[in-house]
Amino acid sequence: MLEVRDINVYYGKIHALKGVSLSVKRGEIVSIVGANGAGKSTLMMTIAGILKPKNGKIMFENKEIPPLSHKVAEMGIILVPERRRLFANLTVKENLLLGAFLRKDKEEIRRDMEYIYTLFPILKQRERQFAGTLSGGEQQMLALGRGLMAKPRILLLDEPSLGLSPLFTKEVFSSLVKINMDGVTILLSEQNANKALQISHKAYILETGRVVLSGTGMELLENQKIREAYLGVK
Ligand code: ATP
Repeated sequence: MLEVRDINVYYGKIHALKGVSLSVKRGEIVSIVGANGAGKSTLMMTIAGILKPKNGKIMFENKEIPPLSHKVAEMGIILVPERRRLFANLTVKENLLLGAFLRKDKEEIRRDMEYIYTLFPILKQRERQFAGTLSGGEQQMLALGRGLMAKPRILLLDEPSLGLSPLFTKEVFSSLVKINMDGVTILLSEQNANKALQISHKAYILETGRVVLSGTGMELLENQKIREAYLGVK
């Protein structure tokens, strides 16, 4: 479904992604695991068309994505960015509706809203509250909900557990499994290797802009190097 082929991305002279390749099949959850500064956000933003690779290709359903164009979102590639970027002075409901701004199917939008409220009942309770007044975990749920309102073919999630309590992290990860089982393909980036690998069909380990290892979530959870470097197990 998604194929990233040998992309290089620079910020001026900083070489942030060095020949990165990866692939995601329809229906999968795929993770990109890496430490601070490894290049996870850069990779997500490049796939979402916000950054343009110097070379290499990104193919989505056999078409090359047009970088720096809103057409990427129209193709169904929807990014939930790191640190959420919600509209603090709009209500929960207004934020959700903004996620659907490219859509015209009113009845389906209403159904999707109900689906999101079933997924995250707390959002229904807080429907009329300003997004800025939500807790960190609730904001992450709202960001996820807003992403879903765009009817993604693939949902890109940049560090969904960043800054969340263990309880909220658990809730967000179980909602990802549910969303995936309901048919949405997911590519996520995470520092929380343990949680991400547990739910992933496949994962890539990113270190200073390079993919150094890939495998199934299970394989990587059992890999001794990964256990020492990312899971704190000796
Ligand atoms: P984090 O979890 O801290 O966001 P990350 O894995 O997402 O880390 P990136 O944000 O993609 O990493 O950063 C990759 C590299 O590119 C880092 O060395 C970072 O300092 C650099 N970088 C990121 N954004 C910019 C920018 N706008 N200008 C210059 N360098 C940048």
